[in-house]
Amino acid sequence: MNPGEEFQGLAAVITGGASGIGLATAETLAARGCRVAVLDRSPGPVPAWLHPVQADVGDAVSVADAVSRVADLFGGLDVLVNNAGIGATGTVEDNADEEWHHVLDINVLGIVRTSRAALPYLRRSPSASIVNTCSVAALAGLPQRALYAASKGAVLALTLAMAADHSGEGIRVNCVNPGTVDTPWVRRLLEHSDDPEAERAALVARQPTGRLVTAQQVADAIAYLAGPLAGATTGTALAVDGGIQGIR
Ligand code: NAD
Repeated sequence: MNPGEEFQGLAAVITGGASGIGLATAETLAARGCRVAVLDRSPGPVPAWLHPVQADVGDAVSVADAVSRVADLFGGLDVLVNNAGIGATGTVEDNADEEWHHVLDINVLGIVRTSRAALPYLRRSPSASIVNTCSVAALAGLPQRALYAASKGAVLALTLAMAADHSGEGIRVNCVNPGTVDTPWVRRLLEHSDDPEAERAALVARQPTGRLVTAQQVADAIAYLAGPLAGATTGTALAVDGGIQGIR
């Protein structure tokens, strides 16, 4: 196995792969020889060579159908990247129960649904792994993130539980904990602030490294965990956060 070609012969599904971290991950795995399918609720701009499939991780039938179509197309499945997620801001007083249900449904149950659909195929792979996109919010106690942090805390716990359940079957399960990543998501948040430029400068000033994380840096970490180079790694959370959680 040559580094840079470690995904030759493997097939991957990446949820939320039409934008930001997911799209960078799809391109990275494909560049290393992987056959990739992007599963997204809005796959519009994804090029055909990344096999875009429209599916919503909030809908069990839609996800199961999409995963089985991809597995049929590729003749199996080796890697699942559970990356689709949505945000929420506020304290526990700010978000209504309906919003809690919706965010937990997408960020947590979305992973459960896609994993359920993929596990029967992953069990047949000699090089199977799942990588979940978690967040520094799961560990760092960020203000105004009660609902989002709770959802990502659940993703972290789910990752460890799934690793315990499936590592014995040859399926490694890990997650990445990104910090503030310069993706369309973050750009949208900045655009909606009163002073986007000042807000961006303040965000950058909070980073120990003095810059935002790039989608490519997270994609490289996901690719490491997903591929055979991390063959001994399961049940871990890899921080890709510019030091924001570890440095005080
Ligand atoms: P993004 O908004 O750029 O991309 C998210 C993609 O997910 C979009 O293509 C969207 O269509 C898709 N998606 C959303 N809901 C979906 C659903 N129900 N079914 C299928 N697809 C759906 O966001 P991003 O910044 O690349 O974030 C990706 C992941 O990274 C998320 O799980 C997010 O929580 C996590 N994350 C992001 C940051 C950050 O700073 N950007 C930090 C930590 C964690």
